Amino acid sequence: MQIPFLDIKAAYDELKEPIDEAVARVCTSGWYIGGGEVETFEKAFAAYTQARRCVGVGNGLDALHLALLAMDVGPGDEVIVPSNTFIATWLAVSQCGGIIVPVEPWPDTSNINSDKIEAAITARTKVIIPTHLYGQPAELDGVLDIARRHGLRVLEDAAQAQGARWQGRRIGGHSDAVAWSFYPGKNLGALGDGVAVTTDDPVLADRIATLRNYGSSHKYVHELKGFNTRLDPIQAATLAVKLTRLDEWNTRRRVIAAIYDERIDAPGVFKPEVAVGAEPVWHLYVIRSEKRDSIAASLEQEGIGSLIHYPTPPHLQGAYRDLGMAEGSLPVAEELARTVLSLPIGPHLDPTDAERVAAAVNRAAA
Ligand SMILES: *Cc1c(COP(=O)(O)O)cnc(C)c1O
Repeated sequence: MQIPFLDIKAAYDELKEPIDEAVARVCTSGWYIGGGEVETFEKAFAAYTQARRCVGVGNGLDALHLALLAMDVGPGDEVIVPSNTFIATWLAVSQCGGIIVPVEPWPDTSNINSDKIEAAITARTKVIIPTHLYGQPAELDGVLDIARRHGLRVLEDAAQAQGARWQGRRIGGHSDAVAWSFYPGKNLGALGDGVAVTTDDPVLADRIATLRNYGSSHKYVHELKGFNTRLDPIQAATLAVKLTRLDEWNTRRRVIAAIYDERIDAPGVFKPEVAVGAEPVWHLYVIRSEKRDSIAASLEQEGIGSLIHYPTPPHLQGAYRDLGMAEGSLPVAEELARTVLSLPIGPHLDPTDAERVAAAVNRAAA
């Protein structure tokens, strides 16, 4: 019996009727850009994330990019980013003409090591971007404290952390702004591209809303050189349906993670640690092992899917060859890339299948 890494269509199957109804409602409304469906979802997601404002945007890279532009990041400005993240976090800085300043992660949580941030700050630093990787909140108190002391802004990349909490409060309004992603495989996933930015800062919210729509806040008045990157009403209507199920889906992910925590006990396999104050939502369950490749091969032989997030850190990608950062320059990120393995997890994974996965990992690593 096969155990896929993620059964992505199962979320649609579970909510087929209300999603079909929501999509049909948009089709018959005759309103296909912006409008009530987008506003309704924005309000619902702001309330869910305990943020004052939510602005729907077209995709995750644009959300990060527009948020940085709204924070006045331009050519020559330095932005501190995690060395261990999906490349979108870096590309958004590059799109602004900003200078990438990578900071290494804690190996146990894979998130930015706040003890190493201060040494990376210069007079040109403007923003710090912590990524809540794998659905686990980065150590936000440390980041926010450093930002406050140095007069910097903080933009969270929460693409993998819908519903996660830091110190009891949901991710969404802790910092200056939070960029999300509703890429289909995320904990809250659309039927295509679609994302949002949440913030408590009305100035940032208005600027991002203007930038996403041709730099225009009123029809045919263009005060900024903007972009076209809007949240689609069909996606918004779908997301509003799925949002009602997100907490339950995250609870089911927690059950799977608890099974892995309890049952995986092979020597040399390191399980993810949760930072004090963090309440993760287990977008991914990532183990580390020197035997990563042979474990993945054994799992595959047993029909169990696994993936690597991510096999090559951004600084070793061709896209960033111009930075001249050779292998060895960010050793923690490089070691993670060499040893991490993401096990099957999702709201529709049967707990008994997770028990099978854990047993297979133990056998493969023995
Ligand atoms: C998915 C993801 C993004 C980008 O989201 P898209 O909506 O696919 O553009 C950005 N950052 C991280 C950490 C992600 O996982």
